[in-house]
Formats: sequence, structure tokens, C-alpha cells
Amino acid sequence: MSDIIQLLPDHVANQIAAGEVVQRPASVVKELLENAIDAGATSITLLLKDAGKTLVQVIDNGKGMSTTDARLCFERHATSKIKNAEDLFNLNTKGFRGEALASIAAIAHVELKTKQENEELGTCIKIEGSNVVSQDVTSTPKGTSLAVKNLFYNIPARRNFLKSDTVETRHIIDEFQRVALAHPNIAFVLHHNNNEVYNLKSSNLKKRIVSIFGNKTNEKLVPVDEHTDIISIKGFVAKPEFAKKKRGEQFFFVNDRFIKSSYLNHAVNSAFEGLLEQGSHPTYFIYFEVPPNTIDINIHPTKTEVKFDNEKALYAIIRATVKHSLGQYNVAPVLDFNRDATLDTPYDFKNKPSVSTPKIIVDPTFNPFKNETLDKNPVQTEKPRTSSTKTYQSNFKKDTGSWESLYANLKTESFSSTNTQEELFESEKETETGKTFQVQKKYILSTIKSGVVLIHQTLAHQRVLYEEYLEHITVKEANSQQLLFPINISFSTTDIEMITGMKADLESAGFVFNEITRDTVVIGGIPTSISESQITLILEQLLDDIKLEVPDASFSHFDVMAKSFAKSLAIKTGTVLSGKEQETLVNNLFSCKEPSVSPLGKPTFKTLTLQEIDTIFSK
Ligand code: ADP
Ligand code: MG
Repeated sequence: MSDIIQLLPDHVANQIAAGEVVQRPASVVKELLENAIDAGATSITLLLKDAGKTLVQVIDNGKGMSTTDARLCFERHATSKIKNAEDLFNLNTKGFRGEALASIAAIAHVELKTKQENEELGTCIKIEGSNVVSQDVTSTPKGTSLAVKNLFYNIPARRNFLKSDTVETRHIIDEFQRVALAHPNIAFVLHHNNNEVYNLKSSNLKKRIVSIFGNKTNEKLVPVDEHTDIISIKGFVAKPEFAKKKRGEQFFFVNDRFIKSSYLNHAVNSAFEGLLEQGSHPTYFIYFEVPPNTIDINIHPTKTEVKFDNEKALYAIIRATVKHSLGQYNVAPVLDFNRDATLDTPYDFKNKPSVSTPKIIVDPTFNPFKNETLDKNPVQTEKPRTSSTKTYQSNFKKDTGSWESLYANLKTESFSSTNTQEELFESEKETETGKTFQVQKKYILSTIKSGVVLIHQTLAHQRVLYEEYLEHITVKEANSQQLLFPINISFSTTDIEMITGMKADLESAGFVFNEITRDTVVIGGIPTSISESQITLILEQLLDDIKLEVPDASFSHFDVMAKSFAKSLAIKTGTVLSGKEQETLVNNLFSCKEPSVSPLGKPTFKTLTLQEIDTIFSK
């Protein structure tokens, strides 16, 4: 038989390599930004069109390239950053593989303009799918501009695989933030579809963090600082009360490179032990400096995972350092009169022996069953509706009991407060179906013809709300209540981008935006089903949910939004429900289109037939 093995042509090999290096526009952004930094730039501009799908362009004022290098840089394994294998163990640059530009040029239309400082003229090269289309002498400022157009134009499958613009933008902004946080001394500008998203001046670390995540970040940060023989640690952690319910803003950098490390994340988390409510995550920006020869960043092609030589020691040092900082700085709270007080944890709680951050936020005055007529003579045997909400509302105090007056109008003749003889007799007399009982402030037990049904109150209510929202949002008839005083809420630039992207969807849910600026949203109207005090938390939850969802291209925010609202607003475990409320919930649940599962796929109820009950007792 004849020989069948052949070497792949370069452009094919490059396309294959591109599969690893370039997953999405954000990968291009990362590679180009890193090249600009390696070139010693002090000012870097990133221009995007259509979430990078149409254009990613990085302009730097770095050292530029000679004409020969400009041509060579698109060859595979062409790098100026290492010369031999030993160099791999002493890397001070971000790139070293020499495959980014070759890969990108294989799957896009690329235009490079570059000039070195002491040259009169620069070079302009155009490449399409690895083919050089033109090379000219050009007049261009010192530095390099690399424009990547129509990514994946020659690989339709990859192009179709890209997610919605919102999601791709999100990925790009993640990369941009990581690079910008790693290099506060470099000025960065980001424009998307001709809108300026970021304009970050060269500054110090704290200012950089604040300019990315918004002014409100300033007072949240506590510095960490430690220097040992094997590691230097600096940076900031956010005070425990600012921990995020979902994914915190969590950043580790090693030698100015963003890394992910669940092991070190664990170290930080453990330093926060006892200070955070379960399920919330600390925010941190922690920078390590270690000798380059003690880490291996080469274990993953996209280079966010790192292997340390002395991981265990690092764990202990990080934990101790963060703990120390928290102990030192997490003292009396700072009053800031420019803030909306309803956004703060009430200060009374900070003096309590165990400080707890808010976990579940429910407006105690919010009554999902407010259309029901309420009993005017409450039997207050239990504290209703508060168990999981008590840390949030700043206007009631845990110990004084004054808050109870808030519930004076709420009906509480529930079966969970069965101390009253009368009720007991009442319920004993009941034999007809449809009677409900609350169990452990968590479940509702109801008699049905065939036996009993056990309903999870939170999950059931989520289902009810979810279907309600979905209906309102999709038929675009959501009712909006106008606010007497518009609410100003500050957000990070990223979140503002996302809110802008979802504006239309949010509006059809009943939100009215008076203004959206670079870091503030002014809300003039909200859905009728939501109360004013819940707005910030609902929006934050929604942003978190959307970030986690990473939905596909056909994605509409409606569903995520409906789920998110349902989750935020559903009555929680620990909420005492009156008989009437239980009944309404049960009825509403069973008039849902899909009563048996929560919007997140968990079962909402379980029935136990008489037969099944009988078998239990016939053994
Ligand atoms: P690597 O960064 O791994 O070396 P790349 O393919 O990203 O590989 O870049 C190849 C080479 O092109 C780099 O080593 C560098 O010499 C040169 N280069 C790329 N981008 C720039 C830039 N913005 N300014 C100056 N030189 C650059
Ligand atoms: Mg590179």
C-alpha cells in the first residue's frame, strides 16, 4: 500500500490551533490585550462592534514591530518572548506560545498597523484566513493597532455557536476587567458600538477597583497586605456585610496574571468563616507575587489555572492574612449620608454578638395574598413572617418587639399557632377535603379526596409567581406603579451594560427607567407586584442569575427574569401562613399550568393516597 500520512498545510494547522486558543470574541480580546501589555504599552484602547463578532480592535502605544516582525508574528510558534526551554521557567510575559496571532489570522480578517518609536513610517498588513492580502508602508503612530474583523467568517459552525450579544459582551468585559485590574498603572479605554463603556485612567489599585465596580465599592474595601519569603500578598477584600448572594466578585492575580483557584478561594472563604451567612460569597481582589520559577502556568491553554510549588503554605498564609485584615478593619461601620439607608444592613445588628448578613430579603409588609381579606383580630402566638427576614429591614428592631406592630393587620389564625383550643376543635371538626395545615413553617399539608398532599410552600409559591410573571411579561400587559420619588441605584459598569441590554424586557415587566448613566440607574416605576424596598435586591439577584445562566443565542431574558423574580419574591421557609393564605397558595398552585415542579425544576408537592397510608399501617 502507498503511504497515506501527510503534513497538514499551515492554514489548516492554524485553524485547528485556533480551536483551542479562540473560543469566542473574548478570547481574542484577552490575547490582544496581553500582547499590548507585553509590548510595554501604557495606554490601551479596545474597540468592539457587535460584541466583538464584527470587530475587536486593540490599539496600544507599546514598542511596535519592525516590518519583518510584523510579517513574522502571524507565523505559528513565532514569539519574541522565549528563546529556549529554560525561559519557560522564568516567564515575565503573558504570552510565550507564539500561536495567538497565527490562530486568529486563520479564522478572521485581520489588519495590523504597527510602528516602532524611531521609525518614520510603519507597516500595514492585511490577512484573511491565513493569506496575506496586502502589505504596505503606512503612516501610523508609535505602537500597534490590531483589528480582528468577522471572527469565524470561514467556520460557520463556530460562528453560529456564538451566544447572544449580551452574553458575548459579558465574557469580553470579564476579560477586560481582569486585565485592567491586573494593571492599574496602565490606562484602558473600552468602546462598544461607539459607546464609551470604560475610560480608566492610570491609577493605583484601589482607584482602579472603584472605577470598575462603582463608587459604592470604596467604603467596602479592606486592605490585605503580607510579605513572606515565598509570597507577597496585597489587595483588598470586601467587608463581610457586602458579600454577594451568588457569585462574588472574586479575583486572584499571580504575578499580574488573573488566575482561578478553587483551593485558594477556599482559603479566603475560610478566613471569612462565621462572618458570612450561608450561601453568600466574599468579594476579593487579591494579588500574589511569587518567584516565577515556583509556578507553572503552562498547564492549561487558556492559562487561568496555575500550579504552585508550595500550595499548602500559601493556603495558610492567605487565610491568616485575610483573617488578620478582617479583624483589624472590620470595626465600627462608617456612616455615609449619601447613601440610601434602605440599602444598608441596619447598624443595630453590627453590635449584636453574632453579626449576620442578610440572606433572604423579604419586605415584611409585602403580602403576596394582599387581595385576601385579613382577619382583624390576630392571635399572635408566633412571630409571623419574619424568621428569615429579620436582618434586613432597617426600620424594625429585633429585640424591641416594636416591629410586631407592623403585622397587627396580618391574619395569623393559622394552624401553626394551634395553641388556641378553639382552633384545635375547629380543625378536629373538619372532615371535608381542602383543609390545610402548616408544618414547621415550611410545608402545607392539605387533605384531598384520595388522601393528603404535602406542599413545599416556597417552591409552590415560586411556581405560582413564575407563571404569573411569565404571563404578564410575555403578553406585555404588566402593570407598573409610578414611584413618587424615583429610586437611584448605583451599579458597576458591567451591570449597567447588562441592564441596558435588558431594558426593553425589564420595561415590559413593569419597570420604568428615567435615566441610565454610566454607574446609576434611576427607576421611576416598578412592577406592581414588587415593593420599593425590594428593588435593589431583585435587580442584583436578576443580574447574578443572568450571569450564571449563560443562555443560548435564541435567548430571551423573559424566562430568566420570571424565574429570578419568582425566586426573590416567593415566601420563604419560616414564614407563618394563615389558613386563608395557605388555602390561596394551594388553590393558586393547582391552577398553574405546571403545578408539580418549581421553575427551577424541583418538585413542589407530593401526594400520599389513602392506599399508601393504609399500607404504612398494615405491616
Ligand atoms: P506570544 O504573545 O505568545 O509571543 P502572539 O502570537 O500573541 O504570541 O504574538 C507573536 C509575537 O508578535 C509576540 O511575541 C510579539 O513579539 C509580537 N507582537 C504581538 N502583538 C504585539 C504588539 N501589540 N506590540 C508589539 N509586538 C507584538
Ligand atoms: Mg500573545
